[in-house]
Amino acid sequence: MPWCDSCAKYYAPNAMRPDGTCPTCGRSLATSGSLRAEARALGVDDPTVVKKADGTPKAPWHFKVMVVAVSIYLLWRLVQGIEWVVHRL
Ligand SMILES: [Zn+2]
Repeated sequence: MPWCDSCAKYYAPNAMRPDGTCPTCGRSLATSGSLRAEARALGVDDPTVVKKADGTPKAPWHFKVMVVAVSIYLLWRLVQGIEWVVHRL
């Protein structure tokens, strides 16, 4: 999304002037170059992101650890919930 620093506003691509400048202050906004920088900031085409053979980014190891930890925690809470229900019967 094109951002204007001087106006502190986001502009839809079709809200900009045809030459890609800000409709309010005339400052040059998003070019394909800044879109590439945005993509880099989002981790797309980041050389540090490990990719699988089909080109999709591989989940980082700490994400998998977190998923496993959350699964164990939720399973434990489920056990506690079942115990709570059983004790009330
Ligand atoms: Zn502006």
